[in-house]
Amino acid sequence: MRTLVHAPAAGLSHHPPAGHPEHAGRLEAVLRAVTAAGLTARTEFSPAGRAALERVHVPGLINQVFAASPDEGETALDADTWMSPGSLEAALTAAGAGMAGVDAVMAGEAEAVFVAARPPGHHAEPGRAMGFCLFNTVAIAAAHALSHHGLARVAVIDIDVHHGNGTQAWAEQEPACLFASIHQGWIYPGTGAAHETGRHGNIINTPMPAGTAGPAWRRAVEHSILTRLDAFEPDMVLVSAGFDAHRDDPLAGLSLDDEDYAWAGGALAAAARRHANSRLVCVLEGGYDCAALERSAKAFLSALQTA
Ligand SMILES: [Zn+2]
Repeated sequence: MRTLVHAPAAGLSHHPPAGHPEHAGRLEAVLRAVTAAGLTARTEFSPAGRAALERVHVPGLINQVFAASPDEGETALDADTWMSPGSLEAALTAAGAGMAGVDAVMAGEAEAVFVAARPPGHHAEPGRAMGFCLFNTVAIAAAHALSHHGLARVAVIDIDVHHGNGTQAWAEQEPACLFASIHQGWIYPGTGAAHETGRHGNIINTPMPAGTAGPAWRRAVEHSILTRLDAFEPDMVLVSAGFDAHRDDPLAGLSLDDEDYAWAGGALAAAARRHANSRLVCVLEGGYDCAALERSAKAFLSALQTA
């Protein structure tokens, strides 16, 4: 697939307190992977505007995040979720880069766009910032595809090791979006049980036990997610591309390796080609061992390009 990378420079200026696992070095690792995969990132994007944010988030949450933005030092939105002076711009520009990714695949400039941004987004609910996430980048991009581009159906596939509770909370109100998450069960944020299917039946949750390795994870993706994706026939596939299901990741306990991310990139690209006119937008979420993150992101990006 012809692949572009959107890596807003502002993503390097979001600084939770020292020792926080979600630090700028993660993005630097992903940018090394981008270079190693032979790609060059676009780095300048317009920040998402208020109307784009309000497709996903309630005004009160948007006001809260803007008000919490510090002039110096750091402020906490909860025990995990922090803002430094550069965080608001980083989060708004991440969302802008995600929407620009949607625009690029709709315009035929690329088949796949990988959005290398931070902070991550998939834990941010319509009314609550949490889990390192301020605004829900992938949901804002999906809503942009539906509202601005008029697509009938989009799918968001979440392969981060943590359940994408924020994206699910939005998709539960948006039956034009199929949301499917595979994650380690019974860890943060505590949601994502298989019985959570949403009142419109457009939610798929596939929790995996600790220690699950690549072969079982791949089978679950094929049987639980790709089969449903095929039946849904989306016009665009978006991916919450977290790399923290890797065996080396310190925050969780699944046991994927680099090659599993190559497989995932290839499988998701193939699904986008089958149903979505090769429209694929992937958004970076977690991944907290920088060496594993760099290798996994390179494997994923290389697989997109050769798919
Ligand atoms: Zn995660």
